[in-house]
Amino acid sequence: MAANMDPCKNPMPTRDARVRAHDFSEVTTGYSEQAALNEALRCLNCKNHPCVTGCPVNIRIPEFIEQVKKGDFEAAYKIIHETSSLPAVCGRVCPQETQCEQHCVRGIKGEPVGIGRLERFVADWHNEHNTEPVERPVPNGHRVAVVGSGPSGLTCAGDLAKKGYAVTVFEALHTAGGVLVYGIPEFRLPKSIVKQEVEHLKALGVDLQTNVIIGRTLTVDELLSEGYEAVYIASGAGLPNFMNIPGESLMGVYSANEFLTRSNLMKAYRQDSTTPVMKGGRVAVVGGGNVAMDAARTALRLGAQEVTIVYRRSLEELPARKEEVEHAKEEGVIFRLLSNPTEILGYENKEDKRDPRNGRVVGMKCVCMELGEPDERGRRRPVEIPDSEFVLPTDTVIMAIGTSPNPLIKTTTPGLEVNRRGGIVITPETGATSVEGVFAGGDAVTGAATVISAMGAGKLAAASIDRYINGQTGAE
Ligand code: FAD
Ligand code: SF4
Ligand code: SF4
Repeated sequence: MAANMDPCKNPMPTRDARVRAHDFSEVTTGYSEQAALNEALRCLNCKNHPCVTGCPVNIRIPEFIEQVKKGDFEAAYKIIHETSSLPAVCGRVCPQETQCEQHCVRGIKGEPVGIGRLERFVADWHNEHNTEPVERPVPNGHRVAVVGSGPSGLTCAGDLAKKGYAVTVFEALHTAGGVLVYGIPEFRLPKSIVKQEVEHLKALGVDLQTNVIIGRTLTVDELLSEGYEAVYIASGAGLPNFMNIPGESLMGVYSANEFLTRSNLMKAYRQDSTTPVMKGGRVAVVGGGNVAMDAARTALRLGAQEVTIVYRRSLEELPARKEEVEHAKEEGVIFRLLSNPTEILGYENKEDKRDPRNGRVVGMKCVCMELGEPDERGRRRPVEIPDSEFVLPTDTVIMAIGTSPNPLIKTTTPGLEVNRRGGIVITPETGATSVEGVFAGGDAVTGAATVISAMGAGKLAAASIDRYINGQTGAE
């Protein structure tokens, strides 16, 4: 079949912004078989496949796309699944434009091949049509504990279970999936996809124990003395950062993590839900990453009258994925760029101390910024413009300015080395920590990063743990 030289990607079918801004159903609906074939034909099957170098887990991209061209979607799935255990997730949320697609040669004179869109199509096709029962591997007699059931922990558990290890995953929350279930909203990543993967792991024999906090219910040392031969720490970076400005303890100020957890995991979006969360009024979201976009778009869907993103740099520096920014704009989110909060203002009725409005957020003091010299990462540093203060009236403030690893595991595991940002220190080639038999990866090591990098770390650790238990300590 002749190559498709159209400079543009096949568009992703997307639901009407006026409708989708008021419900939690998925925003994009995925390629049809015809669109997938048409998009696959844009791939030139380059000999040196530069796209593969941009994928943190090196998926054999041109090979799976060749199978899509032939209409053999199951063969395409098998190729992807050799390196990625969550393709339906990565096809949806990977920042493809800065990873695989950034290296695609078709991107030189037009848009790159829609690699992520094709990956999503193939994974969804497989999930819809696959009827093969999961085969339980033969047990090899060894036990491994995994702390945390986010993408990193699930990937490590899956790889080890396939080799016959008896793996127990300990999860602090009542549901498995990590940020995939408590952070990323349903309209971007349906929970049924994560559930399917968790069920697959259970079918492989992985024992999932929820509501167990390592560092409280049990310690890492106790896991090792209970007979687990290795422990993989994949506890993420769920501790929210705040700006340390006055007013952050007022009623109506949330961290994005708390706000999204209330909505996603505690079902605050349901009409019959008793979970307290804002359901109307004006909302200001501070930050410019994916988390800020998710919080802003969730607030809209929960019934906010007006949602404003407040970000101290300009549109070009917004760290969120372009697609998410576009979707947020289409849905009506307002962007107040080059603005930085300095104080959150609360209601105060001096005459009546019992006024229920006392202590509730009424506004946010901000200053205007301009971009100065580049910082050490090359991003132009925002500089305050003198006498530029203004007040943004708002009823709710959501802080989405990053997260750090929770110190609980560090403080309860003697000898575990962490860096000054709280990330667990590992040997990069193996994922081994400073404690014998203990490995770590994902956001718990890097701080907030991406799903695919957390999965890559889980894969690396699984391979290292396998070698460690079999007496070979070095990296591959
Ligand atoms: P997590 O997913 O955080 O999982 C860690 C798990 O460990 C959690 O379930 C936690 O409850 C559990 N845990 C923590 N402490 C303990 C303990 N002491 N005992 C037992 N269990 C414990 N990345 C992308 O690539 N694309 C996106 O579009 C994207 N959007 C995002 C949107 C939001 C709102 C957020 C918050 C993040 C987003 N990310 C995105 C980042 C991505 O989700 C993370 O980088 C990734 O989930 C990290 O995986 P992980 O397995 O290391 O940790
Ligand atoms: Fe691209 Fe992510 Fe898929 Fe890798 S996993 S090929 S980076 S979409
Ligand atoms: Fe196909 Fe682009 Fe990869 Fe070339 S670089 S093989 S065109 S996806």
